[in-house]
Amino acid sequence: MKQKSKYQKELEKEPFYNLKDEDFGEEVKFKIDENSFKGGVPFKCHGKNSILIDKKVSFNDFEFTYPVWQCSKCKKEFLDFEQAKRYEKFLIMKKLLEEDPITIERNMNFDGKAFFFRFPKELTSNLHKEDLVDIKLLSTDGRMFLVEVKHGH
Ligand SMILES: [Zn+2]
Repeated sequence: MKQKSKYQKELEKEPFYNLKDEDFGEEVKFKIDENSFKGGVPFKCHGKNSILIDKKVSFNDFEFTYPVWQCSKCKKEFLDFEQAKRYEKFLIMKKLLEEDPITIERNMNFDGKAFFFRFPKELTSNLHKEDLVDIKLLSTDGRMFLVEVKHGH
């Protein structure tokens, strides 16, 4: 078995269930139904379908909206797999703003046509040749990006 990278271990420290978040002033608890990985199907609670609501969270100047299923009776919130993934992105962004995340400096390379950089070896054990790189531009000067490596098919 391959050893997990340090980065991956860091990510896994933050589970996206039974979240406790002091910053929101209240304990936020989610239940993720392991049988409901399809998404779009309301969770059942108190014998009824839960309803889809948009939850807004913010800290500093950063605001984030994400959908959750909520029981109208006990107000318990449920996340399906897609929602959990979305919420996980929020946690990553939050971590970025709050703490000093693991940072790696690389030299820029130029082959006469294109600019490129190499990923450090320690971070590539989980990457595959078929993966797709999703690049989101974060700043208008074109020098800040969010890079996500997605599973290709
Ligand atoms: Zn309920």
